[in-house]
Amino acid sequence: MTSLRLLALILFLFAAVFNSAAEETNYFCVVCGQGPLGGRIWISKWGAICDDCYKLENRCALCGLPVREGEGTAKTGDGRFICKFDKKDAVLDADAAKEIFTDARQDLASLFGPGFALQFPEVSVNLFDVDYWSEKGRSDGLHKFGFSSTHKTPSGKCTHQVVMLSGQLRDNLAATAAHEYAHLWINENLPAGRVIDGDTVEAICELSAYELMDARKRPAQLKRILENPYTHGAILKLREVEREHGFRFVLNWVKEGSAPNFETTTTAFAAPIKILALTFTNKPVPLPEALKLGGLLLEGQMRHAIVCGVAFAAGETKKIKLQRGAVEVRCREIRRNEVLLDVEGFSAPVTLKIGEEKYLP
Ligand SMILES: [Zn+2]
Ligand SMILES: [Zn+2]
Repeated sequence: MTSLRLLALILFLFAAVFNSAAEETNYFCVVCGQGPLGGRIWISKWGAICDDCYKLENRCALCGLPVREGEGTAKTGDGRFICKFDKKDAVLDADAAKEIFTDARQDLASLFGPGFALQFPEVSVNLFDVDYWSEKGRSDGLHKFGFSSTHKTPSGKCTHQVVMLSGQLRDNLAATAAHEYAHLWINENLPAGRVIDGDTVEAICELSAYELMDARKRPAQLKRILENPYTHGAILKLREVEREHGFRFVLNWVKEGSAPNFETTTTAFAAPIKILALTFTNKPVPLPEALKLGGLLLEGQMRHAIVCGVAFAAGETKKIKLQRGAVEVRCREIRRNEVLLDVEGFSAPVTLKIGEEKYLP
């Protein structure tokens, strides 16, 4: 059921191009290879899709492309499909996940020194499917793409475990690994009796992911981490602390500080630091987080832009339901590969390219 919800979530990521029925194009279907296509054609970020393939029920859990089972596609244990384009980059086996986790921790240790290494270096790393999150109702260390736990014996010996969602793209998984690694480090180093706000802990873990992606020069990941509404305020404010004092200051603060968050520990900032609560969910959610242009729909002189599954003609104003609430969107102009929108809360017009996502402030 969980995977079905996930599939439903991405069902509207596509655009359609209706050509006049008789006219043939130079489009070939990227799913079945058929072409040149005529009639109704759907345009995705990977290319054209014939109408037959568009009607397929199975969709790639990562990009929403319709998939024909078995034709170069992959399937996770819980029934999520991965298209042939994303399959190259999706991590589906535990050995690959272990390697990515090891690389991430090594890079973090060389970035921040032995102070960010684990005293008990053994970590069991595994991949799990979506259903796992529904079964584990725990909130500690749990977030969307990974889970970490540390078992501490009375003598202080730690045993670490990390599980990460299967079928993520390599870079996403590396960012998740860096996040979960920071959880383990905090588990080891947080003195008994010291309490840090849950949201501050998550922000520190996201900062670890940010640093790794920054060192690896992954601008798309940096953008994702900073713009993610769950971490938005928290990561930005924590980066102010880091810019001023360095990442090691943050690590020392975990070990030697006494306050539950950064608001009360430092006066080095003109404005008080507000760390927003991070609310992670253990289930796929039905509403999109960001505005996304699925694509364009052309039919004769009629043009529509499909934004989060809602079709807009130029000049139309409609409400789009996002996780943060409904926003009013006016479609200013529909261009060849993009759309120009007036969005409630944005003073300047927002340009969205096909497949592009934009988080709102
Ligand atoms: Zn096809
Ligand atoms: Zn895909």
